[in-house]
Formats: sequence, C-alpha cells, structure tokens
Amino acid sequence: IERIREREKSGTPFYSLEFFPPRTQSGAANLISTIERLAACGPLFCDMTWHPAGDPSNTEKPTSSTCIAGTMLNYCGLETMLHMTCVGMTVKEIKENLLKAKDLGIRSILALRGDIPEGNTEWKATPGGINYATDLVKLIKDEFGDHFVICVAGYPTGHPECKSYREDLQHLKEKVDAGADFIITQLFFKPETFLNYVKDCRALGITVPIIPGILPIQAYQSLNHIVKLSKLEVPQDIIDTITPIQHNDEAIRKYGIDQAVDMCRILLNSGFATGLHFYTLNRGLAVKEVLEQLGLWTQICRTLPWKKTANHNRCEE
Ligand code: FAD
Repeated sequence: IERIREREKSGTPFYSLEFFPPRTQSGAANLISTIERLAACGPLFCDMTWHPAGDPSNTEKPTSSTCIAGTMLNYCGLETMLHMTCVGMTVKEIKENLLKAKDLGIRSILALRGDIPEGNTEWKATPGGINYATDLVKLIKDEFGDHFVICVAGYPTGHPECKSYREDLQHLKEKVDAGADFIITQLFFKPETFLNYVKDCRALGITVPIIPGILPIQAYQSLNHIVKLSKLEVPQDIIDTITPIQHNDEAIRKYGIDQAVDMCRILLNSGFATGLHFYTLNRGLAVKEVLEQLGLWTQICRTLPWKKTANHNRCEE
C-alpha cells in the first residue's frame, strides 16, 4: 500500500495484473509463459483469484488452487495478492485459509464476499460463516492486525444485487471504515463511469486509492460470458461495433486493444487514476499491447526462478 500511495503522490502511473488458477494442464503451461512475459515487465503487484482449478464443474473449495497458483507468483518475486471469498466457508476455515496465506508469505488479501452459489437465488451466509466482505475485513484486522494489506471490490455501476447504487456506495464505505486499504473496481466500458464513481466515493468520505479494473476485450464469446457472469450491461455503441465483426477474432482483438488504450489514456490524464488493474484472463498479448501503447511496458530484467542458471544470476533471452 505504501508503494501505491507513493505512486499516487508522485503521479507515476503503475499497473497490476490479475490471473486465475489454471483450469487445464495446457492452461497451467500457458499461465507460466504468460507470467514470464507479463510479470517480468514492471507490474506493481499481481493477484490470483479465488476459484477452484480444473473445469468449471469442479466444486471443491478453492483454497489449494488459489494458494498454489498465488505462491507461484510470490516465488517469482512478484508482490502477490490473493483473493479470498466467504462462500461455503465457516469462520474457522476462513481463519485457517488466512493463516495458510500468511505462512506462504502472502502480505495482501482482496477480501470478498463472493457470488451467490449456483442453484441459489439469493445470498445466504454459510452456517458458522460470515455475511459480507465487511465482516471479512473485520475478521482479518481482528486476527492479523496490520499483517495483511487489505483490498476490497468496488462497483462503478453498483453491485447487481444491491437495491441502489447509493446503498452500494454506503456498503463500500463500511468496508473501508472496517480497515480496507484500497479498492479495485469491477470492469466498466466508459471512462466517465469510473470518473463519476470516484467523485461519488470521495464525496462520501472514501479517501483510499481506487484502482480501475480494465478488461481489454479479446473475443466476442468471452466478453458475453464475463458480462453475463458479472451482470453488466455493454453500452449500445460497443454492441453495434462488435456485433458485425463477432466472427472476426483479429478485428475484435484490435478493437479491444484500441478501446482499452483510449479509455486508459483518459483515466490516467484525468487525475482520478494513477494505477490500472488488468483482468488478463491469463492471456498476455492484448495486455502487453495495451501497456506498450500506453508507454507502461518497462522491460526490466527480473530473473524468474526457472531462468536462473547455476552460475549466472542473469536473464537468459
Ligand atoms: P460485498 O461487499 O459483501 O457486497 C455484496 C452485496 O451485499 C452488495 O450488493 C452490497 O451492496 C451488499 N451489502 C454489503 N454489506 C451489506 C450490509 N451490511 N447489509 C446489506 N447489504 C450489504 N469472485 C470470486 O468468486 N473470486 C474472486 O477471486 C473474485 N474476484 C473479484 C475481484 C474484483 C476486483 C471484483 C470487482 C469482483 C470479484 N469477484 C470474485 C466477484 C465478487 O465475489 C462478487 O461481485 C460478489 O457478488 C460480491 O462480493 P463483494 O466482496 O463485493 O461483496
């Protein structure tokens, strides 16, 4: 959090990268090469979502997969944040998960309630569990003091389950008052959505850093999938542009990169955002191109562990 604050104070742009635990063996190999490509190039931190590995029907709890995949980032010397939800967890299990994260050397947690489990129509806390992300933030603070930097999620168009945008903002304030250090937002499609959100947060007395979540559109199908999962609305002008090119992967990809670059430029120039958080979808190319066009792609020579030779602590090309 100190590094985020320093960057905000000096106005030096930064970025972070989000990955998810791989679903297949080839996904795991792909993740390693994506990390190699992206993570060696200057992200302020990387984060691993709280999802079970394996195919989407896997109902096991995500503890191992998120911790293993997160540890891989940490092992690479990258500042690592683990996401953690309360879904299906008792307080005892949540504490054990936090202890595990601490033992693995993790210093940052994105504290989430999590989505309504499939098959249910409304949120119900697990018996012996907790209700809202605010309670998770409180639990982390009570049990671990200042050991973890705590991030929480923000929703620039309001959380889909909340009665109103205003009420959701109040709940965001509660998360921050409970001890959250910064906020990462849900993805959005227009820069003004984020700018208005930050203004509303500041007016309510939320002073912590707010990092916009950016998804460079990479394919028509995956956009539809994400939008459906997150219950977001795609603006009509974007639908009108991408529908005719939906079967042309290259054209969609190019559109996604141009749209993300334009939006990020406006955000960075607005004075409301110093950092950008990229939903990478475990794919590197689009994010790399966006960062290159923004001038944020800094090729630093970070020697990833599997690139170290016995005698030379140097990067092998
Ligand atoms: P909360 O902040 O607890 O809010 C949930 C709902 O309850 C909101 O409608 C809120 O307004 C309302 N609420 C809060 N407090 C109260 C109260 N006291 N009384 C009444 N209502 C209240 N999901 C995963 O499964 N794994 C991930 O790794 C993951 N990563 C994410 C990362 C980001 C940046 C974002 C934006 C989302 C992520 N999600 C992830 C999705 C997230 O789990 C869902 O959006 C979930 O539905 C809400 O989680 P939350 O922490 O925002 O919930």
